[in-house]
Amino acid sequence: MSGDGLVWLGTPAFPEAAREALADTRLRRNLRRATTTIRDKRLAAVGELDDWERLRESGAAIKRRTLRHLGHYLERLEEKVTAAGGVVHWAADAAEANRIVADLVKATGRTEVVKVKSMATQEIGLNEALAAEGITAYETDLAELIVQLGDDRPSHILVPAIHRSRAEIREIFTREMGRRGKDAPADLSDDPRALAEAARLHLREKFLSAKVAVSGANFGVAETGTVCVVESEGNGRMCLTLPETLITVMGIEKVVPDFVDLEVFLQLLPRSSTGERMNPYTSLWTGVTPGDGPQEFHLVLLDNGRTQTLRDTVGRQALSCIRCSACLNVCPVYERTGGHAYGSVYPGPIGAVLTPQLAGVEHAASLPFASTLCGACYDACPVKINIPEVLTHLRAKIVQGRRPGAEALVMKAATAVLSAPGRLSAVQRASFLGGRVIARKGRIGRLPPPLAGWSAARDTPAPPSESFRAWWSRTKESS
Ligand code: SF4
Repeated sequence: MSGDGLVWLGTPAFPEAAREALADTRLRRNLRRATTTIRDKRLAAVGELDDWERLRESGAAIKRRTLRHLGHYLERLEEKVTAAGGVVHWAADAAEANRIVADLVKATGRTEVVKVKSMATQEIGLNEALAAEGITAYETDLAELIVQLGDDRPSHILVPAIHRSRAEIREIFTREMGRRGKDAPADLSDDPRALAEAARLHLREKFLSAKVAVSGANFGVAETGTVCVVESEGNGRMCLTLPETLITVMGIEKVVPDFVDLEVFLQLLPRSSTGERMNPYTSLWTGVTPGDGPQEFHLVLLDNGRTQTLRDTVGRQALSCIRCSACLNVCPVYERTGGHAYGSVYPGPIGAVLTPQLAGVEHAASLPFASTLCGACYDACPVKINIPEVLTHLRAKIVQGRRPGAEALVMKAATAVLSAPGRLSAVQRASFLGGRVIARKGRIGRLPPPLAGWSAARDTPAPPSESFRAWWSRTKESS
């Protein structure tokens, strides 16, 4: 199945988008402050456990086993959800998933849904697809609400509005809330408590009137057909319990075999994401229960490029991701560019390996190069995804798929020069001379093509007046 979903948003390639983001000093300040705070909290929470490394090993092993037998666990999940009164739908791609959800909402006769934060529904562009069918989706997670009201895009997995300052959020609330429901208080300040209260009042109205909710899923337990959502604000609990109909869109890789496995992830996830010992709200439900909670439950199992990713024995590691965002918070590239530069709903190191695989490397060929390969993401990942390994694997695929270009010609020329000492000396003499002519203040700025791209992002020191070989033969061989 090709990854023809909407995971790739088609913004400029990473180098261009990153250059623009780097010029935004306010964005960099917001990002530095936020990622440093979350990073420190995570380190403290992880440091409390003596068996953290063993937990990581367990998490990685469970994910490997599950991915090896994914079909088996998914069929078991379907069987158990169905037996508990739910309905399972299989969606091969974004278009099919969106059509299924839109048809389900239309069948209820409603034109509004409340949503709890879900990467999968962002990946398929569900809100836009529903809008095209005359259905309005209201995001209820605080950060998602900020993004939605600001007509913006998320830039972080866990904190989608990480790029916004308090003053900006106040301005967005004041300007936009009234257009979509309860207005913000006239005297709203940028105090975090006041902003949260304004959001709470605005959303309460939606929760109480909504008859249909759409959620994602952190985990689906094959053994029992139980679906799990973890969150911090209680908005998820409201969405999952108050409406009459609940539609959950879950990536097929989110299945775990049983409750013992779930327990491992419920320890790994909160410490890695928010630096907490456990999530404030962990909601679990199994099908429908008469007289309690939604009386209609639909589980949409989303492929959208995942089975294609599974075929790649190196790249499939990316499907183990539990979306904790620890890799983003430690990444020196993410901290400087922010999430929008990645042009995908999955930013940061995990986005750099997941997006090209879901969307097809030809659609996101710059992303595997958006990394220094420092390995901080691998160290932080609670399920030990070797992101640098996948990055280099994808880089190789991309390079192999290209027609020989300037780089190949340069390498060919370098081989010819380096294999003949006489040629090397002649080229060295010419480059020393040329380098010194074009150098300014001891540095060379932009080199002519085909080296222009390489020199655009680097300072090149001016070459010395003679090479080591020339110096050796002048001073040692003559003595
Ligand atoms: S790749 Fe690992 S660290 Fe990054 S979001 Fe996924 S689970 Fe978390």
